[in-house]
Amino acid sequence: MVCLYCGGDTRVGNSRLQRRNNQVWRRRVCKRCSAVFTTHEAIDLSSTLLVVVGGLPKPFVTDMLFTELLLAMSHRKNAYLDAREATNTVIKRLLELPGKPLYSPPQISLIAGDVLKKLDKRAHLRYVAEHESLQIK
Ligand SMILES: [Zn+2]
Repeated sequence: MVCLYCGGDTRVGNSRLQRRNNQVWRRRVCKRCSAVFTTHEAIDLSSTLLVVVGGLPKPFVTDMLFTELLLAMSHRKNAYLDAREATNTVIKRLLELPGKPLYSPPQISLIAGDVLKKLDKRAHLRYVAEHESLQIK
């Protein structure tokens, strides 16, 4: 990876596996200007998981799930962090399903709704209101 500031070559000063979110944290040092910055290596879920929409597989967009959870949890004091955590929990649950790596939107909504139900009743109600597949007719 090149330096964020000058485009020079960098070396890894320090590196750690973060088991909690399955990422590799690296402190990089620029060989040219000595700037120090951090990188995170993570699995690219959008090229690994697929959502079947109208019979066609589409890339799984983690940010879309995160945004929906953040909206449902916006009343919480630490909404951003809580939504990030809930997103990771939903993804973990999706990866346990036998049909992986193919998912349907109602399947994702069902798990997201279940995660929110256990975490925050108000967030769950807001989420269900936005997802027709979760509503009892
Ligand atoms: Zn530099």
